[in-house]
Amino acid sequence: MPEKDYCDVCLAQGLDSHFLNGKKHVLRKNILYKVLVGKAATVKLCHVHDIELFHLGEKRFVMEHVEMLRKLVNRDGTG
Ligand SMILES: [Zn+2]
Repeated sequence: MPEKDYCDVCLAQGLDSHFLNGKKHVLRKNILYKVLVGKAATVKLCHVHDIELFHLGEKRFVMEHVEMLRKLVNRDGTG
């Protein structure tokens, strides 16, 4: 499975998002507005993490997933 088909959180944490989500393997693009200063960050989230984002809210979600945040910053930070 190519990397683009993975959830950003699962990828950062080394989780198998296909296993985690079973048949509900859909990726949804979410835009985080409060994470990177001055710009929105786009993340791909699997069903499980999509729900988690909804429940936790953006700020707590990124606190829980600092690794993912680090990857985002690295990916988007230079451009
Ligand atoms: Zn995930």
